[in-house]
Parts: sequence; structure tokens; C-alpha cells
Amino acid sequence: MLKVYNTLTREKEEFKPIKDNKVCMYSCGPTVYNYAHIGNLRTYIFMDILRRVLKYDGYKIKGVMNITDVGHLMSDADDGEDKMAKASREQQKSPYEIAEYYTGVFFDDLKKLNIGKPEIIAKATDHIQDMIKYVQALLDKGYAYEIDDGIYFDISKFPEYGKLSRLKLDDQQAGARVDVNSQKRHPADFAVWKKAEPNHIMQWPSPWGMGYPGWHIECSAMSRKYLGEIFDLHTGGVDHIPVHHENEIAQNEALTGCKTVNYWMHGEFMLVNNGKMSKSLGNTYRISQLEEMGYSAMDFRYFCLNAHYRKKLNFTFEGMDGAKVSYARLLSALYDHKISNATTDPTVLAKYKKEFCDAIDDDINIPMALGVLWKMVKEPKSKDVYAMALDFDKVLGLSLDQAAPMQSEQESAPQDVFDLAEQRKQAKADKNYALADSLREQIAQKGYAILDTKDGYKLNKN
Ligand code: AMP
Ligand code: ZN
Repeated sequence: MLKVYNTLTREKEEFKPIKDNKVCMYSCGPTVYNYAHIGNLRTYIFMDILRRVLKYDGYKIKGVMNITDVGHLMSDADDGEDKMAKASREQQKSPYEIAEYYTGVFFDDLKKLNIGKPEIIAKATDHIQDMIKYVQALLDKGYAYEIDDGIYFDISKFPEYGKLSRLKLDDQQAGARVDVNSQKRHPADFAVWKKAEPNHIMQWPSPWGMGYPGWHIECSAMSRKYLGEIFDLHTGGVDHIPVHHENEIAQNEALTGCKTVNYWMHGEFMLVNNGKMSKSLGNTYRISQLEEMGYSAMDFRYFCLNAHYRKKLNFTFEGMDGAKVSYARLLSALYDHKISNATTDPTVLAKYKKEFCDAIDDDINIPMALGVLWKMVKEPKSKDVYAMALDFDKVLGLSLDQAAPMQSEQESAPQDVFDLAEQRKQAKADKNYALADSLREQIAQKGYAILDTKDGYKLNKN
């Protein structure tokens, strides 16, 4: 029996879809004004693992993911410039070119990471009419009102506002900015439609003049269009809880008069050096950058799978080195099973399978599931163990069919690379991690990856 943690109730609940074995699921997708960083990708790995667990448990999934190519303002709380418009101005390209380019890179990253694409990919700019209809319906029902710069949701009409984040409106406003739009009835009222200045780069005709949708209405309108009024599951990162998803709930429930999403699930954040990682802070890495440093996309996936999705995960290169070595060991151990002709008692394998299922069904406990895999791998070599590992890999998505012997011989590196590696060893001994990281990058530029080992380090040619 699958149990999942529902952010709405703050409890692990038995998962019961609305209709038989079919799951309707919406996942908030990227705002495509820049490259996805490894933190963003952690959230999509979580989405993918959840989809895989559902499929493994016999459910059919209708999954929708949006691509936000308009309307996401610099601050999630409705102010600042549109992120797409800003990128367009800075990069001197049309917003459509920007969106197309970054969407392409995003899907390449998903592929590298074995993240399955949801069944429906919905681009916000392809659904403007659905959003306009939604806004009109909110106006007709008296949940929204028009002011000079747009149409706003009237929070006072929805007393349950805040039920997902459990934040009181007054607390949310404590830090409210002084430049609140004076025409708004309540400072926390949020835009569902913005009227565009004549020179605004993305705008569409609407009953309220030229304008563009708010970010939150995008997800409400597109989930409703593809999944219906009431659907099973909604995912996103934890940062979406207090504003974006709270606003989606307000819009949906205002329109339908009932609860519209049964389970809300959120992936915790990835940190860098225990601090916030974000595109705007400029301290992010992309998958292609990790690859240049000698880590594969699977090393990164393995790194993510070692932490439960509801726990913060601190990204460090030490952690990545550990993941890379463990993943290589796993593939190498599995290779020995793969080439074996021996068999294993089916009852022994059934025991592992049960443990594995118990772990994944307990709120997607992948670290525990990996532990079961490791325990099984330590059984005497047998082709049955390999077959069962491939079965587990339907959930893990670690390309375990690539099982291969470990590269045991140290590749000889040129003297200048060794010198840098020695300097890095000293920097680490001095706890000068900034210098150690910069030396790692210099080593990478020379075409080598440095891996920390128990006795020192190892240099691999990229
Ligand atoms: P964005 O493209 O900014 O809309 O973000 C895409 C997804 O990444 C959203 O689901 C966010 O919740 C998630 N996200 C953003 N930053 C992080 C982070 N540091 N760790 C994990 N997920 C994140
Ligand atoms: Zn969304």
C-alpha cells in the first residue's frame, strides 16, 4: 500500500486515486528564461521517481507539466519585471527564441538524467485563451476585481487562504513592501491578469485590453484543462508552497467551490555549501558543467537518490566524489552478477523485493530502497540478482543495465596536473575549500577529473 506525505494535511496518507488505477498528476515546470540548475533538476528527479513508483505499483499516469514562458515576475509575489521579458531585453532575443532555446536544453538535461517526460507538456503561451476564460469566470463569480494595472484575486473572499502553508495572512504581510499597489483591496491580493504597457514585449488582447496572464493562473488553467476540475496529485518544489500553490488553491477552489487537488507533494531544496542556491544569486551549477568536471549525469542522479526528497540536500564536490565512487562500485558489483551463471533461491529474492517495495511505498523512501539494493548486491554472484536489480531500476532509473567492471588502473596524468592535485591536497588539509575548488576547476580545464579517495586522490582522464 503506497503512502505519501501530503503537504496539505502534514500527514502520510494512503494514496487512493479518484479513478481506479489512473493517476492524474500536475507538476510545476520550469520558467525558461535561463538554464536549469542542479537544484531545479533535483525537483524534477523527485517528480520522476514519484512517477516511476506509481507505475511500478501498477498505476497509469496522465501527467502534465507546464513550461512557463510568460508571466513569472522577478518576485513570486507579483512584482518586478517578467522574467522572460528581462532575459529577452538582456540577451537581445525575442522571448520566444529565449524560451525555445532554454526549453530545448531543459529537455536534454531531463534525458541525460533519465527523467521521463510527463505525457503532456503545456506551454503557457499556447493557453492564453484558457487563462482569459478562467479570469473572466473569477470576475463573474466576484472573486476578482479590476484596477488600473490588472485583474486581482480578492483574498478576502477566500477565508481558507493560507491553508497549505499554514501561514496567517498577517504574518505573510509582516515583511510586505511599502510600495504596495494602493488600489489593491488587500496587500496580499495577487494579479491574475496584468495589463501591458504599450512597449511590453509579450501581450495579448483580452476583455480588459492588451495584457498577459499571472503566473499562478497559468497552472490553474492548464491543470483544469487537461486533468479536469478535481485531480489526484500536484508536485513542485517547497518554495512554491507559500505563494504559488496557495494562490493556485485559492483560484481553483473559488471557481469550483470544492477541494480540487487531493495530494500536494513538494521536493525539498538543494543547498550549496549549506546556503541558498539560485539563478539570481549566481552560485548554481548546470549538469553540463558537472560533466565538464568529470561527473556523469548518473553520478548526480545517484547523489540525489541518497537523500529523501523531503530532506534538504547539501551539494558539495566531496559528496559528488562519494556518489561517483559508490555508483561505479555498484555497477562493477552488478557486472559480476551479470556474467555469473549461478542462480539464487527465489525466496531470498522475494524477501529483497518485499523490502524494496516497502521502502518505496513508505513515502518514496529511496535511500532505504538503495540500501536494500546494496544488501542484495552483496549476495553470492548470480544472474538472478542482476535481473532483480534491473527490476528495481524501473524505479531508480540509474541505468543499471550499464553494469561494467571498475576502471582499476590509474590513468597516468601529466606532471602539471599532478602538481595541481598536490596543491589541492594541501589546500584541503589547510581547510581552504575555496582554493581546493578552484584547483579542481583548473584540473578539469586540463581534461582530468579528481576524485577523493581514502588514501588521497585519483585522477581520471575525462
Ligand atoms: P523555476 O524554473 O525557477 O520556476 O524552478 C523550477 C523548479 O525548481 C521549481 O519546482 C522550484 O521549486 C524548483 N527549485 C528552485 N530552486 C531549487 C533548489 N535550490 N533546490 C530544489 N528545487 C529548486
Ligand atoms: Zn505551477
